Formats: sequence, structure tokens, C-alpha cells
Amino acid sequence: MRYWDEHMECMDRNTLQEIQLKRLVETVKRVYTSVPYYRRKMQELGIIPEDIKSLDDLKKLPFTTKQDLRDNYPYGLFAVPLSEIVRIHASSGTTGKPTVVGYTKHDIGIWSEVMARTLVAAGADKHSFVQIAYGYGLFTGGLGVHYGAERIGASVIPISSGNTRRQIQIMVDFGTTVLACTPSYALYLAETMEEMGIDKSQLKLKSGVFGAEPWSENMRKEIESKLNIKAYDIYGLSEIIGPGVSFECEYQCGMHINEDHFLPEIINPETGEVLGEGEYGELVFTTITKEGLPLIRYRTRDITALHYDRCKCGRTLVRMEKVIGRTDDMIIIRGVNVFPSQIESVLLEMGEVEPHYQLIVDRVNNLDVLEVLVEVSERMFSDEVKKLEQLEKKITKAIEETLGISVKVRLVEPKTIERSEGKAKRVIDKRKI
Ligand SMILES: [Zn+2]
Repeated sequence: MRYWDEHMECMDRNTLQEIQLKRLVETVKRVYTSVPYYRRKMQELGIIPEDIKSLDDLKKLPFTTKQDLRDNYPYGLFAVPLSEIVRIHASSGTTGKPTVVGYTKHDIGIWSEVMARTLVAAGADKHSFVQIAYGYGLFTGGLGVHYGAERIGASVIPISSGNTRRQIQIMVDFGTTVLACTPSYALYLAETMEEMGIDKSQLKLKSGVFGAEPWSENMRKEIESKLNIKAYDIYGLSEIIGPGVSFECEYQCGMHINEDHFLPEIINPETGEVLGEGEYGELVFTTITKEGLPLIRYRTRDITALHYDRCKCGRTLVRMEKVIGRTDDMIIIRGVNVFPSQIESVLLEMGEVEPHYQLIVDRVNNLDVLEVLVEVSERMFSDEVKKLEQLEKKITKAIEETLGISVKVRLVEPKTIERSEGKAKRVIDKRKI
């Protein structure tokens, strides 16, 4: 088995929980004393640090949102004097100010450790050549992987993003064995390789760690076959630490959360209520070892579910499923949470239709109805009506099985669903009009 820190990664859960509680209590005390924002929030709720006596008491604490970070821009939530901060990263917001995060020397050490675990789980060791094609800079991707790869003693190739042909030449010449980039860039590299007439047999690549954007199982298969590697999903966000929050092991049955540093919860995004194991909801993290910017119950807006049973790899660290959507995209139909991404993955799985679709939600006789418009390909559309009807039934059944509610599927002609330059408009909710 491949572990970086077997002691922590495979620890008995009772012992782990003792460590988590000790660290949580310390963190709450620290933010209460050092961050006026948290002291005020806790006072408003009528709680003091001494009220946190068990992990279950976590739910008494206030949430933190991205907006709270923006409101305290740039350094308002830092818990140490600025002289202790050795690194600053920021995520560019599409709207408004960026979110600024600060690390102490100790925080950089934690980050290196969790990334070392991530890389080792993906098969890297000190003999590896790790090509980092994530962007370096304020974005946490490049430097996060960089420090982890150095920690395990691998040879780091800090090429950063872009310049695709040069990336490929270096991959061949330098004997890269591990690739780190976004999954879409991995596919782009594979396509460019074909254009350059370079065969995958010329590469020494064995595995890749891919993250920073959502990707499907189909995309994993495509990357694995085109680059002849094993593709690992990694998850992170700069507010919590950057990449290294969670990682896949060789069994690829969810991502192990480094929960000795980041305490996860799943909540109902509407009510804030904490949900149980296996239930889908919004992922929330409390950092329990960070010094620079400790965050209490940070709402990631990512929707997933947690699983606590022991993994085949031997790790006891909880696993989170692939993120299935964002709370911003969620629609509620007859009390059931629906994400456009769920429907998209059903359609991609079937492979017979274009991935262009639109959801129309309406209320008829006080009942919510969901209609799914799906574009068929030119080839399919020329087929006989009977075949189209069969396809419609097949899609309806597949979507209903996934969502657990009845839907009406309507196939539409090629190129009739409006294309958008930016984010596609997937949902038309007539209940709100
Ligand atoms: Zn595992």
C-alpha cells in the first residue's frame, strides 16, 4: 500500500476524533481571541469557546461564506500579525473583489504534507518526475502541487500552464512520470500530441493528478486511454488551503479528506441543518490546524455526500463523492433537489444525444413539473420516428432513475437549443416568472 503518513491516514477513528476535538477547541479559542469578526458572530449567537465540548458542538458555531471573506477584504479574517504571514494567494472572483488567503510558515508545512499524501496516493515517489502544468501565481494550483512534490523528494518540473507543444516536448525529453493540471488541459495535451505525431508510447507518464474543475467518469476514461495513465481526481479550494483538501486512492471510490486538518460537514443548503452520512448537501469545512486564516464552517457551495466506512486501501479518512453540482445551480422540484449536472451525466453516459439540453420547470395545478429538452444529433434525427420515440423513452427512464422523480423528456431538432458564449442557460424556471 502507498501511504505518505500511514499513522494519520489509517488511524483508528476514535483516536482521530480525539485529535480533531482537541484541534477544534484550540481553533475556536484562537479565532475568538484573535479575529474580531468571529468573536462578534459568536457573541451574537450567545456562545463562548468553552461551549465547544464535543465534535457535535460544531453545529453551534456560525457559518462563514465567501461574502464574509469579501466583506473583510483583504486581511480582516487573518488570525496572526501580518509579520507571521509568509505567503499570500488569491482567487479571482468573476464578480467583485478577489478572495485573499494568507499562510504562515506552519500553514505551508501542512499544505506540503497534505499534497505529499495526495501525490503518494497517486503513485508518486522520490523517483518521480512531476510536471506541474497548473498555473503558478496567485492561483494555488501550481505552488500547492510544487511543495508537495518537493516534500516527497520527487523531481519537480515547474513548467506552469500554457505553451502546449513545449509541454509535450518536455514531457518526452525529461521523462515526466506524473502530470498535474486541470482535466480539460490533460485532454488538450493529448489532442495536441496527436497533431504533433507523438505517440503515447513515447511518454513515460504513469499517472496524473487532475483537479480545479469538475469532470466526469467518461472524461477520466478518455484521459486514461489517450495518455495511457491512471487519472486521479484531487479536490481543494484556496479558502481551505488550495489543492490537497482531499484526494483519491488507487481504488478511486471517492476522495479521502485530510480530516485531521479539515473537518467536513454536509448541510442542507436551504436550512443549514447538518445531514447524515450518504446524504447529498453542501460541503462545509472547518480548518483545525491553520494559523494564518482559520475558517469556521466555511460553506464551499459544492454539493456532495460523505462516506465513513473503511476504504479498501486501508485509509480511515472519510471519503467525499465527486462534486455533483453547486448550490447556486440547485433547483427544487416537489421537494427533491435536482442539479443540471445529474441530467448532463445521464445524457453523456447514453452517448446517443448531443450534450445540449435545457430544463424547464413549471407549476401545473399546484404541482411542479420538469420538462427536459434534449437535442439529438443530425444522424439520429434523420432516423425513423419509432426509433426517436424509443430513445425518448430510454432517456426518460434513465433520468427518472437518477433523480427519483417523474420527468417529461422532449427530443428537439439539432441546434435548436440556444448556445451561449459563457455559461450555458440550462434552467428556465417558470415558477419564478
Ligand atoms: Zn481509499
